[in-house]
Amino acid sequence: MSQFVDDLMMEVKAKNPAEPEFHQAVQEVAESLELVLERHPEYRSAKILQRLIEPERVIMFRVPWLDDQGEIHINRGFRIEMNSAIGPYKGGLRFHPSVNLGILKFLAFEQVFKNSLTSLPMGGGKGGSDFDPKGKSDNEVMRFCQSFMTELCRHIGPDTDVPAGDIGVGGREIGFLFGQYKRIKNEFTGVLTGKGLNWGGSLIRPEATGYGAVYFAAEMLTTRNETLEGKTCLVSGSGNVAQFTTEKLLELGAKIVTLSDSSGYIYDESGIDREKLEFVMDLKNRRRGRIREYADKYKEAVFTAFDGAQESNPLWDHKAECAFPSATQNEINEKDAQNMLKNGVYVVSEGANMPTTIEGVTLFLDKGILYGPGKAANAGGVAVSGLEMSQNSSRLPWTREEVDNRLQLIMKNIHKTSVTMAERFGTPGNYVNGANIGGFLKVADAMIDQGVV
Ligand code: NDP
Repeated sequence: MSQFVDDLMMEVKAKNPAEPEFHQAVQEVAESLELVLERHPEYRSAKILQRLIEPERVIMFRVPWLDDQGEIHINRGFRIEMNSAIGPYKGGLRFHPSVNLGILKFLAFEQVFKNSLTSLPMGGGKGGSDFDPKGKSDNEVMRFCQSFMTELCRHIGPDTDVPAGDIGVGGREIGFLFGQYKRIKNEFTGVLTGKGLNWGGSLIRPEATGYGAVYFAAEMLTTRNETLEGKTCLVSGSGNVAQFTTEKLLELGAKIVTLSDSSGYIYDESGIDREKLEFVMDLKNRRRGRIREYADKYKEAVFTAFDGAQESNPLWDHKAECAFPSATQNEINEKDAQNMLKNGVYVVSEGANMPTTIEGVTLFLDKGILYGPGKAANAGGVAVSGLEMSQNSSRLPWTREEVDNRLQLIMKNIHKTSVTMAERFGTPGNYVNGANIGGFLKVADAMIDQGVV
């Protein structure tokens, strides 16, 4: 680590103790930006990076709610409004017991760069709660969402801050949140994205993150004159991103052999086909069951329990060419990365946010594989959220083809920006540097234009 990054990280750790994920996200960006700051002293003297790592606003609040037995529960709600230099704060809400301030700050920080890369006018934000929707009835989830929005609605708005979904927040939750916002504010606006189709949602929004991660992988492969057809792929997670990653991979002729959830993973050597994917969608989106049920239904598949405590995750230890981590942060450690390389993986397109540890990323970069970091590879979700905002403002819905074409174009452009920036700053093929620099420059210039605010 250079002196500059070292000094910055000491300051970040002292000021933001016990937030390891936030430290990790800042360190990665700071390392990527060293040469930029050297060539552009104006960013250094304007303290752009130091300002970027300090959220513009952090909102933290109590969320009390009643379960079906009438018992009171208290959760903690958050919204991190990180940066609004290029547009209203934009980023998802995560409902998961692991949610804390540090995790949301890392996600909000990454979101600033990702949103900038999409070329749409969106600032960065993130929010959520330590509420666990698993095992809760629909009515309990509704009461929680209504209580959460009763406070959040004071801080958001279609031109201020526009949340969306993330882990644990899908169409059901967005519906309950939107209903309560509308009731309190007495206005029907595009204050949330990921809405239902007949009340302001956009076609392709549910598919966008997964499809986008596959489009990004396809773009990376074109640099080697290859396609996804016939490639064996490891996918983790079985939620929104994993499902639509699998769907698009199937469409492009790839073979998918794994899916997971927080209790373990399934390995299906014969491949997950369209019918099996439909089973997973029903299992996860409607019956809200566990992935092990896949192996009960399809005898050719094997379920292996994994709780994160082992040294490495066996999901990443199978022969394959491509990997699409689509569950959560730091799900690929150094040992997992070693296993992937040993098994022939040379394309990694991150559907999840920061799924690879710094040691794992270093290994991928050293080996020169096609490694697409989440900031670039999973930007399709927020890009179509941006398109949903445009449709809401003009009150005109677009067709499926129109949204999908725009999504493909945006992913192509993000790929091109990442490649160009990596080359311009001396690290050709390094998508991490390329994405960080590409995302940074636009926000930095806007911040300089707008003065010290
Ligand atoms: P979902 O809630 O739909 O699915 C999450 C999946 O990951 C589930 O299979 C879940 O298993 C698993 N998972 C969650 N937490 C853990 C954990 N701590 N350990 C192991 N497995 C875990 O979320 P999404 O698919 O929307 O999000 C997945 C990833 O993609 C996240 O990193 C998210 O930030 C990122 N992302 C999502 C976008 C979107 O548009 N939805 C946009 C950009 C990025 P279980 O059900 O057992 O909890």
